[in-house]
Amino acid sequence: MYTIRTVCHPTSDITEPLIVLNTEATSHYFGKCAEGAQRNLIEKSVRPSRMKNLFITGILDWNGIGGLPGLILTMGDTGKTNIDLSFGSSILNYMISTWRAFVFRQGITINVNTMPDAAVRDDKYMFVKIVHTVPAKDCERKPLTKRMNDTLAAIVQRMFPLDVPANDPTAGDPAATSPLTNTELPEISNSAVSSSYVIQFKSARGKFSIQKAKALNIPPGPLFAKLTKGESIEVNGVTIMPDQVVAEARKFQRVVVVDIPTPAYLSSTIQSTGWFDPIDPESDNSVGLVYHFLGKDVDITSKEYLRFIKSFGNHCTHIISHPVYCPNTINFKSATISLLKLKSLQKDFFKLPVYSNDPLRDVKHVDNALESLVAYQEVTISPDGITVNNTDTEKNRFTWSTLYDEHVASLSLGCFNEEEILAAPASFPASARDEVEIVTLGTGSAMPSKYRNVLSTLVRIPTKVDAAEYAYQSILLDAGENTYGALCRNHGDDLPFYLRELRLVYLSHLHADHHLGIMTIIKEWFRVQNSSPEQQRHGSLFVVCPWSYNRFVKEWSRLEPVIDFLKIDYVSCQDFLTIEDADGEYATVMFDELTDPSLKYVLPTVLRPRAETRIQKLYAELGLRLISTCKAIHCKWAYSIVLHFHSEQLDFKIAYSGDTRPNIMFAEIAHDSDLLLHEATLEDELIEDAIYKRHSTISEAIYMARLMRAKKLILTHFSQRYWKVPDLNTGETNFAKLKDYLSQDCSGSQENNPGNIFSYHAPTVALDLLYAFDNMMIKYGRLHEQRAISDKLSIVFGTEEENDASLPKAECQSRKTKGTREIL
Ligand SMILES: [Zn+2]
Ligand SMILES: [Zn+2]
Repeated sequence: MYTIRTVCHPTSDITEPLIVLNTEATSHYFGKCAEGAQRNLIEKSVRPSRMKNLFITGILDWNGIGGLPGLILTMGDTGKTNIDLSFGSSILNYMISTWRAFVFRQGITINVNTMPDAAVRDDKYMFVKIVHTVPAKDCERKPLTKRMNDTLAAIVQRMFPLDVPANDPTAGDPAATSPLTNTELPEISNSAVSSSYVIQFKSARGKFSIQKAKALNIPPGPLFAKLTKGESIEVNGVTIMPDQVVAEARKFQRVVVVDIPTPAYLSSTIQSTGWFDPIDPESDNSVGLVYHFLGKDVDITSKEYLRFIKSFGNHCTHIISHPVYCPNTINFKSATISLLKLKSLQKDFFKLPVYSNDPLRDVKHVDNALESLVAYQEVTISPDGITVNNTDTEKNRFTWSTLYDEHVASLSLGCFNEEEILAAPASFPASARDEVEIVTLGTGSAMPSKYRNVLSTLVRIPTKVDAAEYAYQSILLDAGENTYGALCRNHGDDLPFYLRELRLVYLSHLHADHHLGIMTIIKEWFRVQNSSPEQQRHGSLFVVCPWSYNRFVKEWSRLEPVIDFLKIDYVSCQDFLTIEDADGEYATVMFDELTDPSLKYVLPTVLRPRAETRIQKLYAELGLRLISTCKAIHCKWAYSIVLHFHSEQLDFKIAYSGDTRPNIMFAEIAHDSDLLLHEATLEDELIEDAIYKRHSTISEAIYMARLMRAKKLILTHFSQRYWKVPDLNTGETNFAKLKDYLSQDCSGSQENNPGNIFSYHAPTVALDLLYAFDNMMIKYGRLHEQRAISDKLSIVFGTEEENDASLPKAECQSRKTKGTREIL
């Protein structure tokens, strides 16, 4: 017996389907690995460590694969050593190669299987055959040549070495000087082939038949045991073989997973005989179940589609994945319950996510035999047939009232009642400065968890339109995986309005928890711009990032026609260095030369000129007086930044630390900031870990705010171990303890020691401090209000069950792993 469980159905924050087929030993995944899929696996208690194979369906773009780099890194952290990725085109090698500056894991092997049409892979339990379909009309494409593909495969291998040779000076750091990292991938086009699969379970040997044994006069007892072990026996001088006493072989019907990205693929899909052609003479060739993974423009009510469904016979079950026929239910229920509790304390600081329990259209109205794909759905495949069990899908459904009654009312927080929470947020007329809005879209570090997503902060800068209204421009400070999903849930249909405001995306460094969400943001920004009225369009999007990230954007944009790379105004973080000198970028190695064995590891560096014209354009368009950066104390090519907005209405200085040990240089460039956003990964007692992993503790972040005389401070980027509230107790005693601790390793004078920020005198000034939670929307003028409810935060989280047990294990493992992602 086999089961297939639905992990993701299309919703606004995870747009692509993913199902898991379980055998007794392993799991095979079918569908897409969209951003947010990994976090959904945690929420749905599905263990990715069982994954043997990911059979990727459809055509590939960032929507379909954006969750894969994060998932690979997490699986590497948890000690998994082998993952098979199967797809119908070698474009997958190109895609993975584009991640070479930020995805690197030692000890895990990624096997990329490019499956030609009708190719079959098999294991102990099943055959999986691929079926290629193609669009009716296609544009001209630049395919990968064999030579290119071989070189790309070598790059992928380099990213996931089982072992790093002792003489390889780049071990553990893919962004360093390896020629494979410092090449530029060739110009290509995305593949048009869509991949679908036929799953043919192997017929299983029949079970031991007592009736047959009795008919052969075999006495029950040890002889039965011998036969079940496959040994022959002798009764009354007659040899009896094990095959003589087994019941008929158990056979299972086929399961088909068909992916139709657009209507252009329909005729190729309908004409294919691949769904029915025999794979194995021993097995049952009839199809019992078809999963239909459909793009939004595919019409299942068309005559030809209904004919396609009928071609599988009257007894076949059909499950439809389509945004119109699947409900936009909440994926991250645990985080949603936390948000509701927090909103009952500070109702204007949170917005309830947009969701719906029911699909836009009921698939049963198309044909009563159809089912819609829904998370928690479970299909059982046994010799008796295929059954769909929807009992657990009820877990997807809720109303705010029931959630409030179950989780909030009993806490007796004495703040806002249900009615007040559901009402629209109050708005207060305020100065432009107080209207600056900070949205902490994600506040966790390293990997997503149930309660905190990885990092991203949106800052909305107001300009007054008239006496009662402001217009906004926004900047995004880092964007971890599924940042776009968070925006979708916050704003629903209004999202294009907010995306149009976005002018600048800033990336502090190349760790995956800071940027795996950027590609979707760029893509959706272009989509919204292209569909906006002329007067609302912005000419370009500014991206300030470490230099090698820009190469990734360039390479990936070749796969996504919606992204116009020439309209991205890129400026390197180095161009804003104020105190230190810029480092040279590694020289680019020609792709064609990569196979040359005489290539050296150490490459020359090139100092590029500042993008002065572009910087002036950025300042002018965003109302900036100055951007300053300094090198963060974290990893190579990591930065902290200060943005000084200056106009007639607003003089506002924002400092953002990125990931860093406390840094006196940063205090210097960020002096007199209005707002400091500082990472506070760990509690003070884990100072040793903070030094080892190059992060800051809570007291260190607060002392940094004091040193720079910041007026307000937001703490964020918490280790996922603090899914509740960390110990916020801090003050002079903690500062003194840390000062002593940090001075232990230093010889000589303790005064003004750059490694010990506590050796610098900081004035004691009033500081408004806010501890960030996911999806908080805080107006600058109201940031101080959290203080009044801080004693109730522990009540809010005190009743939750402990975080899922897999997390501490992952953290322990990761400490030993060499890789590019920070480990807390
Ligand atoms: Zn980080
Ligand atoms: Zn980092």
